[in-house]
Amino acid sequence: MITGKNYVGSQLLASGTKTYKTIDPQLNIENPWTFTEASAEEIEQAVHLAHDAFKIYKDFPAERKAAFLNAIADEILALGDALLEIYCTESGFLRGRAESERGRTIFQLRSFANMLLEGSWVEATIDTAIPDRAPLPKEDLRKMLVPLGPVVVFGSSNFPFAFSTAGGDTASALAAGCPVIVKSHSMHIGTGEMVASAIISAAKKHNMPEGVFSNLIGGGVTLGAALVKHPLVKAVGFTGSINGGRALFDLAAQRPEPIPVFAEMGSINPVVILPEAIEKNSKKWAAAYAGSITLGTGQFCTNPGLLLGMKGKNLDQFLKELAEQIEKITPSCMLHPSIKADFNNGREKIRSQNGVTTIAEYKEETAPNFAPQILLSVEGKTFLENKILSHEVFGPFSIIVQCENIDELTTIINKLDGQLTGTILAEPDEISKYNSVINALQNRVGRLIFNGVPTGVEVCASMLHGGPYPSSSDSRFTAVGIHAVKRWVRPFSYQNWPDELLPEALQNKNPLNINRTVNDIITNKPI
Ligand code: NAP
Repeated sequence: MITGKNYVGSQLLASGTKTYKTIDPQLNIENPWTFTEASAEEIEQAVHLAHDAFKIYKDFPAERKAAFLNAIADEILALGDALLEIYCTESGFLRGRAESERGRTIFQLRSFANMLLEGSWVEATIDTAIPDRAPLPKEDLRKMLVPLGPVVVFGSSNFPFAFSTAGGDTASALAAGCPVIVKSHSMHIGTGEMVASAIISAAKKHNMPEGVFSNLIGGGVTLGAALVKHPLVKAVGFTGSINGGRALFDLAAQRPEPIPVFAEMGSINPVVILPEAIEKNSKKWAAAYAGSITLGTGQFCTNPGLLLGMKGKNLDQFLKELAEQIEKITPSCMLHPSIKADFNNGREKIRSQNGVTTIAEYKEETAPNFAPQILLSVEGKTFLENKILSHEVFGPFSIIVQCENIDELTTIINKLDGQLTGTILAEPDEISKYNSVINALQNRVGRLIFNGVPTGVEVCASMLHGGPYPSSSDSRFTAVGIHAVKRWVRPFSYQNWPDELLPEALQNKNPLNINRTVNDIITNKPI
């Protein structure tokens, strides 16, 4: 079923010369398929098709775009076990994870379809004219969100379904009215091709314009950079490393016409452990955090990589229990040998810094791409003096910083880079004593969690998955939930425009029956 070719619109093409293989990380062997890099002509063709498709697709009614998104979901499901099998073969994840991630991907596609059908997401805002206003008449002004144009999506390594070919970035961009060109992630190109075939099949069945979607194969610095620099590309979605995301962000900013890059990058997700929480619930939190640190072999952007506590007997007891729990867990497979190598290097770099001790470590021999979990410890003063200690180690890793007092804890949080999440473990009557800590944490993160774990990102409208730089390149936006659509649109105003020529969302009769802000009042009534 795998052709190894690029989808340039609906055509399968492979005129490039460089080829790629993917790896089965569980077996540590190459997979049988050979994939061909997109040639310069194919890249050019895909972008031009997307540009032409945009002119038509952007004006399709919501029902038509919603039907397309729902059809993509149906086509993905129709691929059945074959898709789950290739996902597992290329990622090292087990069947349960494949099924749950596919479920999440389907849910995301259908959520955006529902958002389109409901319709109010365009934020229609109308101020009607006051011709007799003194000293000057007021004009009729009507504003709504409109799509930006072709979007390039970089598939992530750690979510081969949910943040790749038909993942949240693609679903939200298509919902916005933007054609999508995916730069397939090199670690799971076969999975990407199968999902792309589902999107193309849905596009054909629903008569979408040729080029509304393309899926290209190639390296980041070749294909990826060429796409980001292309003048007809209008925005970029990315999930991955800080280095990769920042390189693409800089490239986009240097274009004659700079474009936005919505990059979701590194995060160590600080967890503040207050003394009474672990005095009362030490075992419970130890079990929860042993599970969270090792979940998905630690390959989640919300992995709790930094624990912050106050020195004392409560913390000693908690760490003893966490060490016992975490050492019992059987290590699991990482996504790729290079990710495993990065994990080894990152772990040893931090372990070798002055003042760092090992609290717990899985010591048995593991298979080549399996990652033994580790928990390190350091004093607050040492952490403050050494920036290396706050680098992300992608994998089942965490470091506990043992602080002398609230001031030291607050100073550490204030100095952290921006993060996706911050968590507080506290007894309800304890938290009020730590206002300075909570204020500091809120300033550094996109989502605050009370008495929980940061892993497990619910897909819903109130989710904010993003945060101050470098956890994301623009903290005003989320990559998860329907508001992710706002990354691919711009506000646009019509002044004194004839009613019949306005988009339906702005017409007097409100034919879409959506909620609008009319003369400062939210209403679905016609004007
Ligand atoms: P990555 O190296 O940043 O790669 C992500 C995508 O960006 C790939 O398609 C890659 O292309 C491309 N790319 C990377 N550097 C580029 C550059 N300088 N110019 C243009 N394109 C570039 O991330 P990854 O492959 O997913 O994993 C590597 C590391 O990223 C992990 O070990 C982890 O530290 C981090 N990571 C973090 C998160 C998170 O959410 N925090 C998620 C995933 C990964 P290629 O095909 O050439 O590789």
